[in-house]
Parts: sequence; C-alpha cells; structure tokens
Amino acid sequence: MEIKKLYIDGEWVTGSEGKTFQSTNPATGEVLAEIAEASIEDARRAIAAARKSFYETREWRDMDSQARGDIILKIADKLEERSEEFARLDCLDMGKPYREAQADVDDAVHCFRYYASLIKTPHGGCYDVNYGFGEMHSYTVHEPVGVCAEITPWNYPLLMGVWKLAPSIAAGNSVVFKPASVCVLSCIKLFEIFEECGLPKGVANLVMGPGGTIGNELAGSKDVDMVTFTGSTEVGQSIMRQAAVNVKKVGLELGGKSPNVIFADADLDGAVEWAMIGIFLNQGEICSAGSRIIIEESIKDEFIKRLVKKANAITIGNPMDNPDMGAMVSKSHMEKVLACIEKGKEEGAKLVCGGERYTEGECAKGYFIRPTVFDECTDDMTIVKEEIFGPVVTVQTFKTEQEAIDMANNTPYGLAGAVFTSDISRAMHVIKEIRAGITWINCYNPTFNEAPWGGYKMSGIGRELGVHGLEEYQEIKQININMKPGTVGWYEH
Ligand code: NAD
Repeated sequence: MEIKKLYIDGEWVTGSEGKTFQSTNPATGEVLAEIAEASIEDARRAIAAARKSFYETREWRDMDSQARGDIILKIADKLEERSEEFARLDCLDMGKPYREAQADVDDAVHCFRYYASLIKTPHGGCYDVNYGFGEMHSYTVHEPVGVCAEITPWNYPLLMGVWKLAPSIAAGNSVVFKPASVCVLSCIKLFEIFEECGLPKGVANLVMGPGGTIGNELAGSKDVDMVTFTGSTEVGQSIMRQAAVNVKKVGLELGGKSPNVIFADADLDGAVEWAMIGIFLNQGEICSAGSRIIIEESIKDEFIKRLVKKANAITIGNPMDNPDMGAMVSKSHMEKVLACIEKGKEEGAKLVCGGERYTEGECAKGYFIRPTVFDECTDDMTIVKEEIFGPVVTVQTFKTEQEAIDMANNTPYGLAGAVFTSDISRAMHVIKEIRAGITWINCYNPTFNEAPWGGYKMSGIGRELGVHGLEEYQEIKQININMKPGTVGWYEH
C-alpha cells in the first residue's frame, strides 16, 4: 500500500523515523491507507520551513492581497471541482453519511471564497486624536501573526481544517497544520491542491501523528507565534499551558454540553425535528450538539413520544449508502460512548430508546450505535454533566422560565444553546441569559461562514469564521503620525 506522506517545505516526505500508522473505515473495519507518522524532528522541520517562508522568503506575506486572494479562489475552485472525491474520503474515513460529507465540502469551498474576498476589503481604522500633542494622525493596520500551528479534531476532518487554514493563509501567515490521526485523508488531498494552485513552499506544512508528541511540540515551540486548536477541553488546557512558554497567541475551540430549551408554546413537530438535527447529525459527534433537552413539564410526555418514534425510524448503515446516521469514528470511541450509556442506566436515568450497538447485516463489521434518548435525567448525573460526543440525548423538565435558564447554565461549558417558543420576548430573554457563544431560536445547528463561531466559559477562547475569524490570525498595529515634525517645547523650562 502506498504511504501517504507529510508535506514539509513544499516536499512530500516520509517521517524521519520511518514510522507509519493506518487509517481505517469505521463502517467496515477495512484499512484505507498507510500514513507517514511525523516525529518531533519532523514537526521542528515544518516549523523551521514555516518560519523561513514568513521571516526570510516573505513571498506570501508580502504578496498583495489581490494576488493572495486569487490563489485562494483557485483553491476553492479546485476543491469544488473535486468535491465528490473529498466527500467520499471524509465519508469513508470518518463514518458520516455521504450527504453530510458533501455539505461539509460545499461549506469548505465557500469558506475559502469568503476569506479570499474578505482579505481584499478595508480593515483597520483611523482615529481622531487631535488633542494634547498638536496635529496627529492615528490609524491601525492589520498584519499577519507569523507562524501559526493549527491542530484539529476528527469530527469534521476537512471543514475544521479549512476554518483555520482559509483565514490564516488569507491573512498572509505561514502554517503548520496537524489533523487528528484517525481522519487525515481529506486534509492530505487539500494540501495537494495547495501545491497545484501555487501556494509558495513553506507557507502551508502538513504533519500527521500523535497529538501527545507532535501536537505538544507545536504548542510548546518558541518558534511558533500562535497556536489554534479545536478539540477537547482537556487537551485545550494542556495547549494553553504549553503556549505560555513564549506567550504565543492562543485560539481554542473546545467541547460542549449544550442545552436545548423547549417551552410548551413551541411548534412541537418543529422542535422534535430540530432536536434530532441537534443530536443525531454527524452521529452526535458535534461539539455544539444539543445533548441536553430541557423541556417544560406539561409537554414532556408528548414530546418524548414523538421524538422516540422518529429516533427509532432513523436509518443506520454504510455511510456511502446515505443512511440517516453512519458509524462512530472508531472502535475505541464507540466503546467510550457505550460506557457513558451504561453509566446513565446505572445512575438511574430512564432509557427510552436505543442504548446499544447496532449490528444489523453489514453493520456488524462496523462501529454503529442506535440513537439514544434518556428520560428522567437530573443535573447530578454523569450523562448530563459530561460531553458524550455520540448520539445520546438527555431529557430534563422545568416548570418556570428561571428554572430552565438555571438548568441550561449549570455546566462548565458554554459553546451553544437553543430555545424553542412562539413567544419572541421570551425567546430573546432566555437566549440572552444563556451563557453560550452560539445560540439558536426555533432551530438547531445552522452555521454560516459569515458569523463568528466559538464558546464562552470552558468551551474556548476566541472566534472562528466571519470577520473575527480573520482577525484571530492578525496582529493590530497602531501607527501615530506627527503632522508637524519639530520640537514641541516639552523640556523648555
Ligand atoms: P482531542 O482533544 O482528543 O484531539 C484534538 C487534536 O488534538 C488532535 O489532532 C489530537 O491529535 C491533538 N492532541 C491530542 N493531545 C494533544 C496534546 N497533548 N497536545 C497537542 N495536541 C494534542 O479531540 P478529538 O477527540 O479529536 O475531538 C473531539 C473534541 O473536539 C470534542 O471535545 C469536541 O467538542 C471538540 N470539538 C470542538 C469544536 C468547536 O468548534 N468548539 C469543533 C469540533 C470538535
């Protein structure tokens, strides 16, 4: 089997220690590819290449934004042309249904186009400072941060990478990118497109391998100016500690345990469908998943009846055949989710559907879990407190609006949340009170390249997407100009 290589300083190379690891299809257990594993030495070479391109060669950084934007538009066009190939890779590698993988590729194409355009729009500001020092002009310019290390998770293998790569390279940075080892194939293809489209060597480097070694090296290197990470809160904390070594800029997109608050006056069928999108899309392997349904007591039984009926009707199967739900990303992750389900039962939650591995027909070879709903949950249960990252939702009830808000906020996370009601004043009040960065009213999960994405509390620092997502990769320089050079008489006593 041909070994998929690392991309360092414009060359496709094997790891310096000659090690490899395998990528497998979680729906079938079949080995998809053999991947070169980067050593710490390779990570250092990638950082050095990025540094050289940013601080010495400077071709990309100094290129005018029009020309840089044009190359990024070319990348978007190539990705669009080959979108089926990319969707197939994420589908086989990660286990998500094909139509969802296709939607991710479409989003990735638009993300590149968005930042290719945004970089050409005016940024920075002019300030009226004509007081105290005579006639002065003050303005700001945005400059690239320098060398950015970018570390991503496996749940949206291509898209989570593009959310970082598109704005950071658009801003003129050089990057070292490390995807999660379990799903690297679409990112390797993306780097092939970078090369085809003429991204100068050293601007984008790809290293693959264990986070504990090479990810740690990237976060702790004094030669890296910024680290941006999407993944678990635990690893995010470690990255923040490592980054302190040179006070590098840090961007963190971390875990969540998001509340989905449903009032009795909501459109019930709509709330059921969106709740399902909130928790069963991508097999529930979504940071913003609406994993805690918090529902007004008077409609709980009817809601559960409709939710369970629809959840039991969800089709599960080979992701390439476009079922409603595909496979969990790996055997070990499936086992972790099943262990959480067991914990839920032990702690007294009432299992009303799913709760087990799905092994019908061909699925026996893969790692599938049935959509799972737990009723009669309380705040002290592990399944209510901890991120499960699977198709498992808990249901709790409230009687008053304040009780709903308190329950929603009773978590160290603050990534997302939603409210369903036909009363717009109540909707606005409750959303305002929910301490989370991404919120929805009468819907769950729609995400847009133009709008900022990120968490409060232990769900992260900074924002991706939108204008904020570009500014994360920029330093802001203040420039003050004295319009009348000469002495000002300060020391003439
Ligand atoms: P993870 O934290 O295990 O790994 C994420 C990445 O970090 C991988 O590339 C991994 O190799 C690397 N890594 C692991 N240990 C490291 C270390 N010590 N130093 C540096 N890098 C290290 O997360 P995962 O299992 O890949 O993804 C699931 C998690 O990601 C969930 O908690 C989910 O909520 C979160 N997530 C958050 C967002 C968001 O936007 N907030 C989006 C997607 C996923």
